Amino acid sequence: MAMNRRSLLRTAAVGAAYSALGAGALSGCMPESVAGQVDWAALRRRLTGALSLPADADYATVKRAYNPGFDTRQPAAVARCANAADVQACVGMASQSGTRIAARGGGHSYAGYSTPDGALIVDVGQLNSVEVGAAGTAVIGAGARLMDVYSGLARAGRCLPGGSCPTVGIAGLTLGGGLGVLSGKYGLTCDSLISAQVVTPDGVLRTASAESEPDLFWALCGGGGGNLGVVTSFTFETVAAPQLAVFQVKFPAGTLTEVLGGWQSFTRSAPDEFWSTLGTSAGNPPTCRINGCYVGGESTLNALVDKLVAATGVQPSNRYSLSKDYLSAMMYFGGCSNYTAEQCRPNWNGGGALGRESFTASSRVLNQPLSDPSELTALLTGRTGMDILLDSMVGAPSRIGAADTAFPHRGALATAQIYVGATTPAARNAVNEVRDALGDLVGNTAYVNYIDPDLSDWSTAYYGTNAPRLRRIAQKYDPHGLFTFDQSVTKC
Ligand SMILES: Cc1cc2nc3c(=O)[nH]c(=O)nc-3n(C[C@H](O)[C@H](O)[C@H](O)COP(=O)(O)OP(=O)(O)OC[C@H]3O[C@@H](n4cnc5c(N)ncnc54)[C@H](O)[C@@H]3O)c2cc1C
Repeated sequence: MAMNRRSLLRTAAVGAAYSALGAGALSGCMPESVAGQVDWAALRRRLTGALSLPADADYATVKRAYNPGFDTRQPAAVARCANAADVQACVGMASQSGTRIAARGGGHSYAGYSTPDGALIVDVGQLNSVEVGAAGTAVIGAGARLMDVYSGLARAGRCLPGGSCPTVGIAGLTLGGGLGVLSGKYGLTCDSLISAQVVTPDGVLRTASAESEPDLFWALCGGGGGNLGVVTSFTFETVAAPQLAVFQVKFPAGTLTEVLGGWQSFTRSAPDEFWSTLGTSAGNPPTCRINGCYVGGESTLNALVDKLVAATGVQPSNRYSLSKDYLSAMMYFGGCSNYTAEQCRPNWNGGGALGRESFTASSRVLNQPLSDPSELTALLTGRTGMDILLDSMVGAPSRIGAADTAFPHRGALATAQIYVGATTPAARNAVNEVRDALGDLVGNTAYVNYIDPDLSDWSTAYYGTNAPRLRRIAQKYDPHGLFTFDQSVTKC
């Protein structure tokens, strides 16, 4: 690995992070189920947290994920785990009875893989503590949502690079990589991971780190959520919370080709401190705007934005910048500038003000700039209702080798997320068409955190040349395929 300091921190944290439960076989805490039958009452007795079955009054509420498109899913049960022993009891019961099982963190899976029909959902949402210790390491419960993480770290003057949506779970985000406004300077979320506590398919609670279960740790850094076990907590390296400046530039309709050309060339040469996303909206003609963030002061940011605008050769229709502290900036990007941190939480699960959203989406990764930016304009022309969001991936993520973690897209320019705010068959068809057309232009890669159940070549698309190693690790830790789903690494 390229990051010596991180390796040192990992070594120091292994002992401290090891759970009081310790590792050990599960035989003592298995529910009384026999193969093929599920004794839900026995599991309920075992759990400190609650178990909701279809007949229970709260079932329809607790099974809800972020995307209402998955409300028709009928999981067998939802276990809201209160501790790692609860997770072990669930894994033991599923293994013994052959019940399908799926972990759930924040519930934002694009494919609804944390809400499968007929499965036991192991919901770790209650494990949401954020504790900052010596040397700035943070132990974060796997059920923490990003607002929990950002506000908990900000209280201690610390920062972790992560995504923008405040209700996304730290678990799914980290396990698939984790791209956000601070990535250029500080890397992906998984690049800050020192260790994780994981209940593996054999029911053992293990510490995965560079030194302990290194293969498992490698797979957890970008190998995708839902695989190889259920994470109960993460230990991250954090940095001192920086002062930030944010900006937005809007361009007149009909200028996407020029703006994309300028954005691509500027992004490649931008300093790590500068991050941006080019948001494009389909139409006749398509429109676009650039949002972003700078780690540092507003005047330096504005000098950089001047250069970006000059690279496009287009006169903006609107432009602003604001100086913000770390937490305010995270709330700004999460659409929470007018809320308190308490309100910046789900209204479907936790009493906050943020609602759910129906959408269909997919992705491609731009390893190189589009050689002819007008081809993206052509793809978006006339497809009203679709957005393509290009998030910069340059800077720190590219200084880790493609095989050093399971996340393979090192050195890429950007992710391209293809997004329609509906779950209709027409939305699915439109996303598939544009995904495939974009694949013809930039290559058939994709970001596993924008997991797409309709992607046929998903294993290579998400993991590239890391797929065979992921499969070998799945064969070692999950030989009976307990954590198997349509796009699990057991099927790589
Ligand atoms: C509105 C929105 C905004 C987003 N913004 C960003 C962004 O800025 N940057 C970015 O990189 N991504 C972003 N994403 C994508 C996001 O990172 C993924 O959808 C991620 O998988 C969500 O994690 P979750 O815990 O919320 O979801 P879940 O649905 O709970 O989990 C996702 C997957 O991880 C598994 N999983 C969950 N918890 C665990 C666990 N404890 N142990 C093992 N496996 C587990 C699940 O089984 C599932 O397969 C965004 C998604 C949405 C919907």
